[in-house]
Amino acid sequence: MQERLKTLKADAWQDITAVKDSKELDEVRVRYLGRKGELTGLLRGMGQLPAEERPTVGRLVNELRSELESSLEAKREALEQEELEQSLKSEMLDISLPGRQPGRGHIHPLNLVLDEIKQLFISMGFQVVEGPEVETDYYNFEALNLPPDHPTRDMQDTFFVSKDILLRSQTSPVQIRVMENQKPPVRIIAPGKVYRVDDLDATHTPMFHQVEGLLIDESATFGDLKGLLNVFIEAMFGKGRKIRFRPSFFPFTEPSAEVDVECIMCSGAGCRVCSQTGWLEILGSGMVDPRVLQIVGYDPERYQGLAFGVGVERIAMLKYGIADIRLLFENDLRFLGQFK
Ligand SMILES: [Zn+2]
Repeated sequence: MQERLKTLKADAWQDITAVKDSKELDEVRVRYLGRKGELTGLLRGMGQLPAEERPTVGRLVNELRSELESSLEAKREALEQEELEQSLKSEMLDISLPGRQPGRGHIHPLNLVLDEIKQLFISMGFQVVEGPEVETDYYNFEALNLPPDHPTRDMQDTFFVSKDILLRSQTSPVQIRVMENQKPPVRIIAPGKVYRVDDLDATHTPMFHQVEGLLIDESATFGDLKGLLNVFIEAMFGKGRKIRFRPSFFPFTEPSAEVDVECIMCSGAGCRVCSQTGWLEILGSGMVDPRVLQIVGYDPERYQGLAFGVGVERIAMLKYGIADIRLLFENDLRFLGQFK
């Protein structure tokens, strides 16, 4: 019996040492200590031993059992440690590698210009007002002194949704909506998208952005209009920029004037951008036609108004030297990334 115990102990040692992972370790445990294991088998066989041998053998078996248990436990710990080191090694992060930075967005050049214009006029006491892009014929034409048979309507090729509904061709309808709901004085700018039937080329898009300004007061004069636009042009293109007013015609202003700015490329000397004239056409303006004041219920004998409208794309193109308007809408990141 004691011989068998010795052999069993030697075998168990060999098996435990050979174990390579926790699954094999479990198998070894079952083989020796399990319910049908070898050591358990020995204990069952004790009944056949002579009575005087039983205590000694019993003690030896119990000793061997606890020896095996602690060996198995030690092996288990060693295996766990090994497995932990393995996984640490395979999952190791190299924290000295430079990280991947997410691309950072920035403001579109049109919005840069729009924000600048808004800030300027807000600082002069103007309110920023927005209105619907889908308008009625009344607000887009009729209330702006363009009756149904007016020849100017043919000049504006408009996107009609139905007979009376259209995509606004100017932001002027916002002025009418404001004047209908507010008593003078009025000081607003109306920025937003406008739509005209136009073929896409280097200077035309069927949708573009306008900012219109309107000031109504008891003592508004053409001199105020000139002063205001001078401040605006200098803020956009730098101090000392010459401007000139050319008589023009708009149905909702009288008198009306186109405003030119001294060419910002050649400072008036004449170049390709200004077609050798030294001047760039930049905006339309004028004193609000008394007829428009009447339509919204203002007393034209008491109030005068001045108004102007400017294309935001035109300003952005001149300011940043952009030759093709389509660049502003193609969203090429190589282009947009230059306006940080
Ligand atoms: Zn020029």
